[in-house]
Amino acid sequence: MARLIPLNAVPPVAEPAPAGGMELSDDLAEVSRLGTVEEMVAWAREVVQDPTFPTVRAWTRSGRKAVAFFPVYTPQEIAHAMGMLPVLVQGAGESIDITRADAPLGSFLCSVSKSTLELALTGRLDPFSAFVFPYICDVSRNLEGIFSRVLPGRPTHMLHLPQNFTSKATVPYLTHEYGRLARQLEAAGGTPLTPEALRHSFSVFNENRALVRELVERKRREPWVLSATEAYLLVRVGNFLPRERHIELLQKALSALDGRSRSRKDSVRVAIVGPFCEQPTLDLLDLLEEVGCYVVEDELQMLLRWYREVPSTGDPLTELARAYVENPVDLGVRATPTTKGAAVLERVRRSGAQGVIFLTAKFCEPALEDVVLYRRALDEAKVPYLHLEFEERSSAYEQSRLQLETFVESILFE
Ligand code: SF4
Repeated sequence: MARLIPLNAVPPVAEPAPAGGMELSDDLAEVSRLGTVEEMVAWAREVVQDPTFPTVRAWTRSGRKAVAFFPVYTPQEIAHAMGMLPVLVQGAGESIDITRADAPLGSFLCSVSKSTLELALTGRLDPFSAFVFPYICDVSRNLEGIFSRVLPGRPTHMLHLPQNFTSKATVPYLTHEYGRLARQLEAAGGTPLTPEALRHSFSVFNENRALVRELVERKRREPWVLSATEAYLLVRVGNFLPRERHIELLQKALSALDGRSRSRKDSVRVAIVGPFCEQPTLDLLDLLEEVGCYVVEDELQMLLRWYREVPSTGDPLTELARAYVENPVDLGVRATPTTKGAAVLERVRRSGAQGVIFLTAKFCEPALEDVVLYRRALDEAKVPYLHLEFEERSSAYEQSRLQLETFVESILFE
């Protein structure tokens, strides 16, 4: 008689993590020793590109917990208030080969989904106690299901963000969702959430977002002072650090920038639209400036500047929900089709951009759908634009270089 194999007898498919990677002290005191902008950028580059998550290994070495969040938006304050390190796991960039994740995921999917799963299947996400996926698209929904099977015993959670931002029920709904998330994180080893701890986290995150905005504003005002790649790395590394350490790093970077002098080039000011989830390679960001673009507006690392202040008055989970719902961010993963055309024009106006570059991840449906809305608005306003697609492991940019050079020349000589 055939014997049924119980499901829990199937061994987990994740492998043990390979050895190696950067080693950091438990308290990440390395940040305090960084002096110049160049040192900070080089250190941030090393952390961001290390697929072994050195800051997370350092944090968890003494028994503390870390939780991984898939892009784009999740309220990291909740994990912080529960004593956990919230980390945005946004794929693996160019740092690993895909050898296992292409089995459960189809060919026509974005690279960030594949490399994130590859990190899990190769044991590199072992330092994390829980995984949170916001329901931003069908890919993220399926990824949550696959994670729960390949990493059994570690909670995965799907955060259902609201789609309607005008209903009276939206804030109460999201408050309830955040409560559900807190209960899941508690089950994964977080300390119980208290209003006092959450209010304290608000003050830390408010300060962090203010500094990120200051850096972004600085880049917009004087784009020659730091390159797009430098600004990106200084912001993105915050996703891997306790926010208190990121605050320290940004304060030092901003004051070091005051003494930096760089010559101004005859470049055109551009807004980058589309890379809100999967991130372009650093080579591609470098290329934009090499061909004569100053990036003065972008959608990179929006999580770290989504809204401004979360007030410390009132019920803190409700205030957090209100901050998300009432903040007018128009991105591909937010269902606001009627305001997107006006939003892109406002971003062009505010940043003084002379053109828009759509930089969309290959096979990213939310980004591609929005390009249609944006193009219509830009056509009407006669704002020039160019559309390029990218993948995490792209390395040849000759075609993109030609297209970018032609685009820049068309603006310079119009
Ligand atoms: S890159 Fe696009 S399709 Fe892929 S997970 Fe992100 S939002 Fe979804």
